[in-house]
Amino acid sequence: MMNLNVPFNDLSRFARTHEAALNEIAQRVIRSGRYVLGREVSDFETRLADWLGTSHAVGVNSGTDALALGLRALGVGNGDEVLTVGFTATPTVAAIRMAGGVPVFVDIDATYTMDPNDLVRRITPRTKAIIPVHLYGFPADMPSILAIAKDRGVAVLEDAAQAHGATIQGRRVGSFGNASAFSFYPTKNLGGLGDGGAVVTSDEIIAERLRRLRMYGEEERYASVEEGVNSRLDELQAAFLSYMLAQLEARNARRADISRRYRAAIQNRALELPNQEYAGRDGVWHLFVIAVDDRDNFMAHMHARGIGTAIHYPQPVYRQTAYDFLHVDPGEYPVTERYSSRIVSLPLYPELSDSEVEAVIDAANAYLPA
Ligand SMILES: *Cc1c(COP(=O)(O)O)cnc(C)c1O
Repeated sequence: MMNLNVPFNDLSRFARTHEAALNEIAQRVIRSGRYVLGREVSDFETRLADWLGTSHAVGVNSGTDALALGLRALGVGNGDEVLTVGFTATPTVAAIRMAGGVPVFVDIDATYTMDPNDLVRRITPRTKAIIPVHLYGFPADMPSILAIAKDRGVAVLEDAAQAHGATIQGRRVGSFGNASAFSFYPTKNLGGLGDGGAVVTSDEIIAERLRRLRMYGEEERYASVEEGVNSRLDELQAAFLSYMLAQLEARNARRADISRRYRAAIQNRALELPNQEYAGRDGVWHLFVIAVDDRDNFMAHMHARGIGTAIHYPQPVYRQTAYDFLHVDPGEYPVTERYSSRIVSLPLYPELSDSEVEAVIDAANAYLPA
């Protein structure tokens, strides 16, 4: 039996391997004398938009800001209903509140993403926008969601914070909605050395509005035409991110290889592996999430063998204390509820060694439910 400690994640591995290049980039920015919204940011925005197949990218402070400003640019304001899933990271919902919106939840299906059938049941004339989340790097069913939204004149903002490079029928997510939000938080598939985010769109008017909103609402310097915020991407992060973007496809390919190996070699009837065989949808394996009935027991077993695990996420957003005021009845979301109590994430990052991958597989296969 292999006895390896496999951390759930280890961001220092990439940074160590690329230390010389990262130092050089930092020096270039330090010497430039320009530190916020300069050439590095506009170069990165152009690269990102080109890579995704959109006309514009607007760099902001974080993925949360990208969602909140994206909603505002789509016209969401005080009291407007925004449909999204409870089965997501808290920031998806926090952003709806930041824009003044009222979150209304939709259940998921076996893909862990928004169930278009439930969406049809929840959409009303009060619905202003829909945020599908490409959770764990797997694309939500955009063709169905877009058809439903279009029929009713509702805007769609993709939450692509976990899905840089995921495709539907060969087209990258982020290019389907009226606008889409990305996060560059360090653990994401495309992550910087700090916070960052971007909104992408192919609508010139939405892009212009976003450029104002991120900079105090200014049309020109010291002339605000609407209430904005400070949510700028800085030069240092943008320069790092341009470098990371060039590594992304190779690193996504390594994630896919590890996932393929997990799916082929983990054979334990107590563990439900992610099924990603859905026509035309190709994920980027941000997380490898399995489902197991006695989750605490499974996690204790893995930890005893030195394998890090985590839960993404322990509670649907509507169950968290901060959102009690929404008075959501969990009984309305049976699939969200069923998976929330059973999901566990296994280590999945490009820098995992083959022997670490085998150690995870051995430990998972050795698990015996109580
Ligand atoms: C990370 C994440 C966000 C928020 O991104 P930040 O950059 O941390 O603000 C939003 N939605 C999802 C699904 C995420 O995973």
